Amino acid sequence: MRFRRLRLSGFKSFVEPADLLIEPGLTGVVGPNGCGKSNLLEAIRWVMGESSPKSMRGSGMEDVIFAGTESRKARSFAEVVLLAETDAGQEMEVTRRIERGAGSAYRLNGRDVRAKDVALVFADAATGAHSPALVSQGRIAAVIAAKPAERRQMLEEAAGIAGLHVRRKDAEQK
Ligand code: ATP
Ligand code: MG
Repeated sequence: MRFRRLRLSGFKSFVEPADLLIEPGLTGVVGPNGCGKSNLLEAIRWVMGESSPKSMRGSGMEDVIFAGTESRKARSFAEVVLLAETDAGQEMEVTRRIERGAGSAYRLNGRDVRAKDVALVFADAATGAHSPALVSQGRIAAVIAAKPAERRQMLEEAAGIAGLHVRRKDAEQK
């Protein structure tokens, strides 16, 4: 799977709608401290289904919504759209939106879906929200300090078999 485009609105410091093309090859994000580089990576992780506020550097899920500044009003929602191309060459558009007091909603190619459906799509492509392909600040230390079970999960995601576990859990619940 290849990410092609990222659109954000009201997400963390990206208060105005931003539309970023992700060109083939290596992408670098440069800028001064606090300009939003890490927020961009978090937006990618969030639209893929990240459910832990802590790994988004917040205390609650709504903390991803632009909180306002002295000169700008806070936003009532945050939305991130990720456009990707599957290995089969198909376009895929994933949208996640959170509204204050209303929680998160997901869309896959314009259709309302569950968080689980989005997780499956990415798990099958070995690019989940916790994929080792996304290395955020401080993560290297976390890999080194990981317990064996956590390290196993990282390896499974890298190997592309994480989707099997999501399905097994699903089957066990039925
Ligand atoms: P560094 O180079 O230090 O790693 P960075 O470019 O990674 O910096 P980020 O951590 O992505 O910067 O951005 C931090 C900025 O985002 C801070 O100014 C913070 O106030 C702002 N920010 C985070 N969450 C929100 C929010 N919900 N509303 C408004 N601003 C936010
Ligand atoms: Mg940073």
